[in-house]
Amino acid sequence: MKAMVLHKPAPVETFPLKYEDYPTPKPGKGEVLIKVISCGVCHSNLHMIEGDWVRMGVPAKLPIIPGHEIIGKIDELGKGVESFKEGDIVGAQPLWSACGRCDYCITGNEHLCNSVQITGETVDGGYAEYFLAKADYIYRIPENIDPETSSPLFCPGVTAYRASKLANLGPNKKVYVIGIGGVGHVALQTSKLFGSEVIAVSTSEAHAKLAEEMGADEVVMAKRDYSNLSEHFGKGDSVIVFSPNQKAIDAAVNIVKKQGTLVVGVFGNINDFRFTKEIIVKGSVIGPRKDMKEVLELASKGLIRLKVTKFKLQEANEVLKKLKDGEIIGRAVLIP
Ligand SMILES: [Zn+2]
Ligand SMILES: [Zn+2]
Repeated sequence: MKAMVLHKPAPVETFPLKYEDYPTPKPGKGEVLIKVISCGVCHSNLHMIEGDWVRMGVPAKLPIIPGHEIIGKIDELGKGVESFKEGDIVGAQPLWSACGRCDYCITGNEHLCNSVQITGETVDGGYAEYFLAKADYIYRIPENIDPETSSPLFCPGVTAYRASKLANLGPNKKVYVIGIGGVGHVALQTSKLFGSEVIAVSTSEAHAKLAEEMGADEVVMAKRDYSNLSEHFGKGDSVIVFSPNQKAIDAAVNIVKKQGTLVVGVFGNINDFRFTKEIIVKGSVIGPRKDMKEVLELASKGLIRLKVTKFKLQEANEVLKKLKDGEIIGRAVLIP
């Protein structure tokens, strides 16, 4: 098969992904081979490809095929797979597999399992014509969901939904969503589903416009240092941060109300933490299978919309460069 393969992490400007022949995987017991229809291009792909996460052991192998938000058609079933048949349209998320036995796994928090395998980081992902998955960790795509443009449901979709779930939202509450990129443009929609007033915050005019399109109640154009955040709309009951920027987290700590909830979905530090405000700080990372299924239901009811631009698989390096430069509005997907 053809794939965009990473042999050695390097800046995207040097075109580190090579379009080349790669062995097509064979599905083993409990596995399925999926012919990829579409794969989203995530900011975390960029981090791995450029070597930012080498000290955390990512990528766990080389060469590796990146990509962890995938929709495709089942091409071949491994032994013992009864829940799917050839030709089914399915999706896969970053959670490639978990142990199934630990405390996290048996309490429905398998995305936190210590033996978790991550699609495109510890095993090959979806920047390819074919992708190997565990049948227990894929999801049937409802018929009214377009396979080519919906693969981002499997990372931004579930990531945004879980962050909203953890943010203590509800009617008569005000939530700030900071960062309106691939995840943020979904997070403002999933937050509205909980009945809260949503204030979207971005430093980019194009992203602010997208927030308006996606139904934010208010949109704030933030200064580079986010210092103007509470000027217009006061403090928030909750704040969700998806902007990969320390200044955004610092501002979030300041604009959350006393006893409010701050949900952080990016790497960074909580500086100037005042215990006297009794705020709750939570991390949020992708989501378990239950959340993923709920996201697909919401999307099939038209309650989650994605802004997606399609590119050819071979264009992955160029697309990652655009993402790095803030030129992707919503999400880019690769079509093999
Ligand atoms: Zn992702
Ligand atoms: Zn486990």
